[in-house]
Amino acid sequence: MKIDPDKCVACGNCVAVCPMGAIHIDPEVGRAVVDQDECVECFACYRGMSKEHLNPVMVRAIRKTARLFRFRFDPEPDICPTDAIVPQDLAWPRIVRRAFSDPQVPHESTGIHGRGTAEVKTNDVTARVNEGEAGFVVEFGRPGVGTRFRDIERVTAALAELGVEFETNNPVTSLMRDPSRGLLRGDILGEKILSAIVEIKTKLEQVPAVLRRIKDLGREVDTVISVGVSTRCDTEGNDSLRGMLEREGYAAYRGKTNLGLGRVTVRNEA
Ligand code: SF4
Ligand code: SF4
Repeated sequence: MKIDPDKCVACGNCVAVCPMGAIHIDPEVGRAVVDQDECVECFACYRGMSKEHLNPVMVRAIRKTARLFRFRFDPEPDICPTDAIVPQDLAWPRIVRRAFSDPQVPHESTGIHGRGTAEVKTNDVTARVNEGEAGFVVEFGRPGVGTRFRDIERVTAALAELGVEFETNNPVTSLMRDPSRGLLRGDILGEKILSAIVEIKTKLEQVPAVLRRIKDLGREVDTVISVGVSTRCDTEGNDSLRGMLEREGYAAYRGKTNLGLGRVTVRNEA
């Protein structure tokens, strides 16, 4: 995202809207400026504010005159008064920032909005994770923090060493040059995004090792990591995951299952 210096009147309204703190008012030039390295192209500033088309020269003159008399001339807080916020044409690799940060843009790889495949919520229908297996969603980043693919790769490479299986329809997997080693394309490693979800599957007995590896790496990467683990209950409604998580020191809760909302990929003949 860019801010047109000819239009901006430095009202500061867009600064509070940016979830990454990437916009600041440069006192030297008296204009808002976007830190291009921190901007994740989420489009919150462009879409989240109303636009007026006031003459910037006139607005600056009024604001300057108002300051002389110690009162302020400010637009309403949700308005860019001069329509100064300008989207750029995003080329590769910067375009991946928007794919992982703007919820209104679908991933080219999966054609769906959102960062994962949502299959963990629909496992009763898809049976992607079966008895004796564990499905993980490993989420990197948050608004205000973000993440870079370089840090995601540190974790995916370590998980690949444990022999995990990456979900093929996941957007992060689609950016891997070598899924067997968890390695991402080299040209995206420096790109910053709001957040991403890695989806993996393991044997149930591998759960403690996977959790410990993620916890260790979580202290080294420059982002926050959240992890969800799921399995399929047996016919009695029991599962051995809960005890496993509790022995590792985590509270375990029965989660939500959206029955009937998934794609039928496996039919249970029983
Ligand atoms: S809201 Fe518009 S005019 Fe105000 S600082 Fe941001 S870009 Fe400049
Ligand atoms: S596109 Fe998003 S991250 Fe970039 S400046 Fe606008 S609000 Fe901030």
